[in-house]
Amino acid sequence: MSSETDKSKSWNRKDDPARFSVENFDRPVLGTPNNADRIFLHSCCAPCAAEIMDALAASKIETTIFFYNPNIHPRDEYELRKQENIRYAEKLGMGFIDGDYNVRDWFDRTKGQEWEPERGARCTTCFDMRFEVTADEAAKRGFNLISSTLGISRWKNMEQINGSGVRAANRHDGMEYWTFNWRKQGGSQRMIEISKAEEFYQQEYCGCVYSLRDTNAWREENDRPKVKRLVKYYGRDAIVEDNDEREAATSEQG
Ligand code: SF4
Repeated sequence: MSSETDKSKSWNRKDDPARFSVENFDRPVLGTPNNADRIFLHSCCAPCAAEIMDALAASKIETTIFFYNPNIHPRDEYELRKQENIRYAEKLGMGFIDGDYNVRDWFDRTKGQEWEPERGARCTTCFDMRFEVTADEAAKRGFNLISSTLGISRWKNMEQINGSGVRAANRHDGMEYWTFNWRKQGGSQRMIEISKAEEFYQQEYCGCVYSLRDTNAWREENDRPKVKRLVKYYGRDAIVEDNDEREAATSEQG
């Protein structure tokens, strides 16, 4: 057998998606950055949260989910995303805290940023608001470690999220924001696998009214049907992957 064949075999083994599937992946035991044995985890939705919840459960890190997302518009969209997350938290036996839906405060805080693109200044404001409340609530409950499920999405800028998370944690002595990269080691792949197995609701826009407007504008320009809210579920419907295409289009435009 030639050495070239050997090399290609070992490359295949390393990168074979099957190795990272929920079925085959040997989950490592994760250690927290400050040795905390429990975490207060901000969650944006069930599809993003589930893989992280599974990873934390496998590492025996006691996890409390904090659903605080007053950015999500409109209310029925918010309620559905929340209920899906409650369903999975109950399945894993994790604590779930339902944050305020203080929409007015979110609109006040993002005033003047209505036309910012996704991953721009409005998103920093949005992350800051959600993580500040997460950190304050965590401190009240005696947690010294927080993180968020937002970073697992490839559509999000992880540096932007981590920056907001670290700033929020710094509001409290001894608190840390865990900047773990949940996408690595097949995390993004398992996120989809779990979502299909659980038939989670699949949202087609980030959350706020401006992201709904901009997603629809992009779809119209690209001859795509408008966003259908409250009807698409992983495992039952074709997966919507507009985000990757939009990302490529945006990069091309510089
Ligand atoms: S696009 Fe998403 S992250 Fe940005 S402001 Fe809207 S809801 Fe928040």
